[in-house]
Amino acid sequence: MNRTKSDELYKKAITLFPGGVNSPVRALKSVDGNPIFIEKGAGSKITDADGNEYIDYCCSWGPLILGHNNPNVISEVKKAIDKGMSFGAPTAYENELAELILGNHNYIEKIRFVSSGTEAVMSAIRLARGATGRNKIIKFDGCYHGHADHLLVKAGSGLATFGTSSSAGVPEAFANETIILPLNDKEAVKRAFDDYEGDIACIIIEPVPANNGLLIQNKDYLEFLREITAANDSLLIFDEVINGFRIGFEGAAGHYNIQPDILTYGKIIGGGMPVGAYGASTEIMSNIAPDGAVYQAGTLSGNPVAMAAGIAQLKECLKPGFYKLLEEKTEFLTSSIETYAIDKGYEFRFQKIASIFWIAFSYKDAIKAADEIDASNMEKFRILHRELLERGIYLGPSGYEVGFVSAAHSQEDLDKTIQAFKKSLDIVFA
Ligand SMILES: *Cc1c(COP(=O)(O)O)cnc(C)c1O
Repeated sequence: MNRTKSDELYKKAITLFPGGVNSPVRALKSVDGNPIFIEKGAGSKITDADGNEYIDYCCSWGPLILGHNNPNVISEVKKAIDKGMSFGAPTAYENELAELILGNHNYIEKIRFVSSGTEAVMSAIRLARGATGRNKIIKFDGCYHGHADHLLVKAGSGLATFGTSSSAGVPEAFANETIILPLNDKEAVKRAFDDYEGDIACIIIEPVPANNGLLIQNKDYLEFLREITAANDSLLIFDEVINGFRIGFEGAAGHYNIQPDILTYGKIIGGGMPVGAYGASTEIMSNIAPDGAVYQAGTLSGNPVAMAAGIAQLKECLKPGFYKLLEEKTEFLTSSIETYAIDKGYEFRFQKIASIFWIAFSYKDAIKAADEIDASNMEKFRILHRELLERGIYLGPSGYEVGFVSAAHSQEDLDKTIQAFKKSLDIVFA
């Protein structure tokens, strides 16, 4: 494939942006080649600046559950644009998206719209601290919650409890308020509550961790987190920025039937536009300004054009059978490839749930913690990614990232993808 135009655009971009990109994973540091510049998307496919076409399983990292440029979303967005781009005053669009969500969702009573997942999570943590009057938070190794200071923290070697920052520029004092624990380890959580009794504001978790491989937890473990937080007057936050409206309309909370205290959303909720949200019971949300003392604001929050995109997309998601069909497609795609890999004896399995899949170069059926992922397998992913691109299949450019099947993927797309995977895996394992 010729990617001359992408290469030229990248050369220019390097002079304009750090690393030539506006979000680090786009720099393709962990796979071969330069970033591919995208010209347009339609349905399941994207076309790059050189005119090459790919079947897209990155889907903008999750937001595009309907695929690219869904006609209903586009027409609603155009109508909204004709009325004006932003007012900084309430519009009926905000009510409509909120009613659509709250009316079809048993786990939140009030919601607040923001402009990104990071902002949603940052606000949810502030809310948890404000509501409990406590400072410390528990997060898990292998869960990503955006790039706010106190969440860019991972475990310091040796010390399982005090976090050290995984980014320069995060004060140690902030990192010290974050307790990092391994996933799928109840004892570690119990110990933290013993060691910091009365200090822990909340536990935050991706109920289906999908940003560091796909580390599907046992329901029993998530129920345990619900119980131990309640017993300690701590709050449980489900960060559903990636799970929300993906694992069913009610996300992971609905899938596991667990009521967290605060939920966060992003990605799908905006239909491809920048929207995030957090929600909780009316009582907990009463802590948010202007009702309460926890301040949180946004010039472009609830932007009407973005709301229109979210409304149009979520209406499609609510149609009967929507999620079932997505899951069936994902099952067909992954099991067809897996059967081939098993037959050939390749060390290759998918982890999957709903329409999310992750490529694990492992014989294991389940991987539940970040330290179970063998970093040396990323070399295999590098080759697989390159070979799939050559065959017109686009995956997110990192072996730690998951893939998504959208409503736009056709049987023909899936068949083509399966063939491309088979040929590519033969090369990876040659
Ligand atoms: C993507 C993601 C975020 C961050 O959202 P942005 O919109 O990129 O700021 C936070 N939490 C989870 C679980 C995510 O998947």
